[in-house]
Amino acid sequence: MTRIALVTGASRGIGRAIALRLARNGYRVWANYAASRQAADDLCAEIARQGGSALALGFNVGDSAAVKAALDPLVEAEGAPDVVVLNAGITKDGLFAMMSDDEWQSVINTNLGGFFNVTRAVIRPMLRRRSGRVIAVSSVSGQAGNPGQVNYSASKAGLIGACKALAKEVASRKITVNVVAPGFIDTDMVKDLPKADLEKLIPAGRFGTSDEVAAAVSFLAGDEAAYITGQVLGVNGGMYM
Ligand code: NAP
Repeated sequence: MTRIALVTGASRGIGRAIALRLARNGYRVWANYAASRQAADDLCAEIARQGGSALALGFNVGDSAAVKAALDPLVEAEGAPDVVVLNAGITKDGLFAMMSDDEWQSVINTNLGGFFNVTRAVIRPMLRRRSGRVIAVSSVSGQAGNPGQVNYSASKAGLIGACKALAKEVASRKITVNVVAPGFIDTDMVKDLPKADLEKLIPAGRFGTSDEVAAAVSFLAGDEAAYITGQVLGVNGGMYM
């Protein structure tokens, strides 16, 4: 039977690398995007060129009704995903004293609300099937805290707590729930940061690649990781231990 992996925020950056990697592992990929339809279509074409199968799926992970409208019919038609990767995320950085309602709410709603909306939409059929992998992409900011990112750090720390609690709820049904926490990874998200300065803070001396994050997700998604749940796997070049 075809195994399915749902990857949110698959149109660019880390999510794209995860989608390509899981497709190479044999999964049919449901590749979610918010606005970048062309990029998502290009990704699906690339997966098809490599002999895989993918479907571009546009919805805002922060919009509970839109998530349900997109995923319910798909689960009905194709079955529950075997792997769910909650990768979609945004930043709206600024000092806390100046932070607007929108900067707080939109980041929490996308990064943490997205986890809730998407995972809840697929977890019941996964529970019924008694197998599955839930993998959330958090951040070193959620582990250590980062000035200028109180909103983002809160959302990413929230993901860790949510995953640990869910891991305990669903372990008896053979579903694992884990977190990958990247440090600085070369993507659009960090393109305006002072790279040379930041590299000095990283023991490995460089930013990571999206493929390096995808490799960690691939491991946690695999059969060999069946007994690993509720864990946070840092992919950060030694920045946080
Ligand atoms: P990115 O290059 O900015 O890509 C973000 C992806 O998320 C895009 O595919 C985007 O879709 C999607 N997205 C954003 N808001 C969405 C929404 N409301 N609904 C659905 N999709 C949405 O970011 P990235 O660097 O690859 O980051 C991926 C994840 O890793 C994020 O959760 C981020 O917080 C985390 N992370 C990144 C780093 C880093 O250094 N890059 C470090 C730690 C953690 P569109 O293309 O349609 O906009």
